[in-house]
Amino acid sequence: MPVQVPLLINGEFVESTSQNKLPVLNPATQEVLAEVPCASEAEIELAIEGAKQAYKAWKNTAVTDRSRLMFRYQHLLKEKQREIAEILAVDTGKNIEDAMGDVWRGIEVVEQACNIPSLVMGETVENVAREVDTYSITQSLGVTLGITPFNFPAMIPLWMFPMATACGNAMILKPSEQVPLATMRLIELFIEAGAPAGLVQVIHGDKDQVNYLLNHEDVVATSFVGSVPVAAHVYRTATNQLKRAQCFAGAKNHMVVMPDADKATVMNALVGATVGAAGQRCMAISVIVFVGETIKWADDLAERLRNVKPGAWDDPNAAFGPVITPASKQRIESLIESGITQGATCLVDGRGVVVDGYPDGNWVGPTLFKDVSTNMDIYQQEIFGPVVCCINVDSLDAALDLVNSSPYGNGTSIFTQSGISARRYQHEVEVGQVGINLPIPVPLPFFSFTGWKGSFMGDLHAYGKQAVRFYTETKTVTSNWKATENQSSGPNMSISLK
Ligand code: NAD
Repeated sequence: MPVQVPLLINGEFVESTSQNKLPVLNPATQEVLAEVPCASEAEIELAIEGAKQAYKAWKNTAVTDRSRLMFRYQHLLKEKQREIAEILAVDTGKNIEDAMGDVWRGIEVVEQACNIPSLVMGETVENVAREVDTYSITQSLGVTLGITPFNFPAMIPLWMFPMATACGNAMILKPSEQVPLATMRLIELFIEAGAPAGLVQVIHGDKDQVNYLLNHEDVVATSFVGSVPVAAHVYRTATNQLKRAQCFAGAKNHMVVMPDADKATVMNALVGATVGAAGQRCMAISVIVFVGETIKWADDLAERLRNVKPGAWDDPNAAFGPVITPASKQRIESLIESGITQGATCLVDGRGVVVDGYPDGNWVGPTLFKDVSTNMDIYQQEIFGPVVCCINVDSLDAALDLVNSSPYGNGTSIFTQSGISARRYQHEVEVGQVGINLPIPVPLPFFSFTGWKGSFMGDLHAYGKQAVRFYTETKTVTSNWKATENQSSGPNMSISLK
């Protein structure tokens, strides 16, 4: 009998009564690591009711106590970083270095949450009228919902529940059903750090559980990370009910290589940024825009990529792991086939790669295309695999036109030694995260994550600094400190009593 992944309801890890279960698979072997339940409606109701009760007490907990919980939590996470990384390396297939990074980028968000007293601080203006002051206060929202994807089972849950709770909310977390194990360990540590029962509840499942939660009248705000179609569905469902939602979605990230770029730097950056983590990163570079003669560098990149091999998470010689499921492998391979039939030149073909000792793994090797045009499926679709498209343009203007025509806007970068080109690109490109001589420009949480266009839905770009604005409401109070019958009211109230 495989391990049963529990729900967390009111501080207790409980086995679901649901008979509808999904297997959690090791993507390198297809071994069933555990079974994850699709929670019943009764269990979801119990979780929401418990979260409502926990919220009543938590919203009035001193902000310093909320901050101290985060301090204890970040300390535990740092102690257990390696243990969490090893758990997620097994069910995602990430190599250990990547897995350590996944946990670390989440810890940085918890560090940001430690700073909650300063982050929720309001503003005051004295004497907006004579002896009348206005000040703003931030207040929590209630029961919030977090829905996470498979590719960062530590970092992305940690984008959500620490900031939500530090701001004074409760949260129902719905982890990816494909990789719930490390997320559960994060939650155990949150309880160990002193989180009160019910503050974070964990409900497992797939679309049915998401939809039930989204439509529940007591869930007031939803943070989602995942693919574009699901993000759009979550966003529309929540906002149709006039609820708050922020949805981080898919991507197709372009890297522009200018003729004056340093070739060695470009090559070194490209290998990791394109096929690292098997290309299963929302910030991976999947299109290289070679300007002018630099297109010749595609052949050198091909040479490098031929020597990059996938392998198991604990193989120190493996550059990256398997893709998440056999279905994902099949989809990637059929997109590679479509690239060839639609006329692109496949310089490196990652299909059919074999990893010794792992005959059943979802392996796809590095794949590089040139002569790609924008009407091809390999250009238009987010492949989410180690597949890279090269496009040749003749100028920075053409590169900007291409990147700005993309329906996505998550990340981009430019490699150049010209300050003028870099400044212009930074200014004119319609993408949220911009790297200059840096391939994957993910900001630290004292900034915020800012996908544009189809890569983000919602108006409060967030996970770090602006997460506070997502998870709180602002109220402005105008106070007349010397209210007497004869005194006029505040500045906007020109209906004077005179
Ligand atoms: P996904 O959209 O398949 O699943 C995400 C979550 O939504 C899961 O918890 C899943 O259970 C739930 N879900 C799936 N189908 C649903 C449906 N029809 N209705 C309601 N809920 C549903 O995404 P994934 O495959 O787990 O993750 C990969 C995607 O996430 C990629 O597109 C990637 O670019 C994106 N991503 C984006 C960011 C970002 O910050 N923009 C970060 C990481 C990943």
